[in-house]
This record gives sequence, structure tokens and C-alpha cells, in this order.
Amino acid sequence: MPTQVYLVGAGPGDPELLTFKAARVIGLADVLLVDDLVNTRVLSHAKPNARVVYVGKRGGCVSTPQAFISKLMVSEAQKGHIVVRLKGGDPSVFGRAAEEIAAMRDTGIRYEIVPGITAASAAAAQLGVPLTDRSIGHGVALVTGHTAEEEEDETHWRALVASGLTLVIYMGVSRCDRLTRTLLRAGASAHLPCAIVHAASAQSAREVRTTLLHLAKTVRLEKIESPALLLIGQAMAEPVALRSALAAQA
Ligand code: SAH
Repeated sequence: MPTQVYLVGAGPGDPELLTFKAARVIGLADVLLVDDLVNTRVLSHAKPNARVVYVGKRGGCVSTPQAFISKLMVSEAQKGHIVVRLKGGDPSVFGRAAEEIAAMRDTGIRYEIVPGITAASAAAAQLGVPLTDRSIGHGVALVTGHTAEEEEDETHWRALVASGLTLVIYMGVSRCDRLTRTLLRAGASAHLPCAIVHAASAQSAREVRTTLLHLAKTVRLEKIESPALLLIGQAMAEPVALRSALAAQA
């Protein structure tokens, strides 16, 4: 049985960061369901008669309900159409892929995931730093900023802070005040270096460095909006400061 549905990562914005495989698969699609973080230039790989359905949300508007998207994927596949679900970055990172995979499994539809470059990789590249650095820490944690609003989630934030991992926070910029307070309460140092990267890899990309104490103020003053990532941890120190810090330790 051939694949009927592809969950495809369109990468972080720069169309050159689309994989060859994603480009080929886009070209197979009869129907494309497209999220709003996807650079529509990647649709140049689609067949001219492919149906394109935009299912994302823009500027705080309500997005197409997930159940509707899953149903549409199933019904189109059952008609014999090849469906490509295009998502920003990597479909498996905060891409709501679980719901769609469940719908495919429930209906016996063959699906395949085509990975993409996630925003965290693009943000590190934008900053000119490695995402992991063995001289600084054990690794990174990809975290959603959504849960900062839930008081009962404090144990989770305390564990993250104690881990010493670099925190790469998706969907956190609009909740920055709350997030900062939560992290400080969870034991993070106010001096912890932070980077904010807006639209990593796109032409409109911007990056700002600050500390945890000034994170929310910086987001406000610099008017940084979604899509943006917050990267928090020693690995985000300015390279010069970092070098001297390492030299002092030696
Ligand atoms: N699947 C996507 C993430 C989807 S969640 C991926 O792998 O990248 C949406 C969040 O991702 C945004 O709110 C923002 O925090 C982040 N994001 C996506 N693209 C981004 C980009 N180009 N620059 C910075 N952050 C980005």
C-alpha cells in the first residue's frame, strides 16, 4: 500500500531550508493542508492543480479546529488523494502531530513523517552559536511556554531549572512576564543569559540578547512578536563574555 498522507516539515522560514524530500513529496500532493508558519514559497514545488487549504491562525485569530483538519485529511485520503500536511519547522516538535497520527491509525491510512529543520536549530544558527556545547552543559530542552500559566506546573519548571539544560522555549514570547516570574521562582538566576530570536532564518529575522531579569522588558521594548524563541542558559552568553568566563574557570 502506498503512502496516502505525509506530515511534512517545511522548515523554519527560509525556503532553502526545505529538504529535498519535502520538496519531492509536496510535488506528489493532490491536497495540501498548510499551517501559517509555512513559507508559502515552498508551494512552488506543488502541482499546478493541487488544492491548497490554509488551516493556520494569524494574528490571534482562531485556527481551524484540529478535529476538522484530521477529518479532512482522512476523507481526502479515502477518496484516493495524496494528502500533504505542511507544518512549520519539524512536524514532530510542537506540531500537534499526535492527533493527526491517531486519526490515521484509527482509519488504517498509511502515513509518513518527513522531518524538517526545527526553529531551535534555526535560532542557534541565527545567533552563530551551537545548540549544544559540551563545555557548557549536558544539552537542551525544547519546552513550550504555554504551561507557564499553570501554577501547578511549578515542579516541572523547578526540575528544568535544576537540570542546567539550555531551555529553548517555543510559544513563550507572548507570556514572557509570567514565564520570567515562574523561572525566577523556580530558582533560575536573574543573571542567566537569554537570547530572543524572532523569525529565525527568514529575511525578517531579529535577535536580541539579554538576561532573565530583563527578558520581559526587552521583549516589550524591542516589540518582539511571534514567531519567536526564547533561549535561556549559560550557552547564550555573548561569545566574548563566554570566552572570558571559561578562561577565568581554567
Ligand atoms: N513545529 C515547529 C514549532 C511549532 S510551535 C518547529 O519545529 O519549529 C510554533 C512556535 O515555534 C512559535 O510560537 C515560535 O515559538 C516557534 N517558531 C517557529 N518558527 C520560528 C522561527 N522561524 N523563529 C523563531 N521561532 C519560531
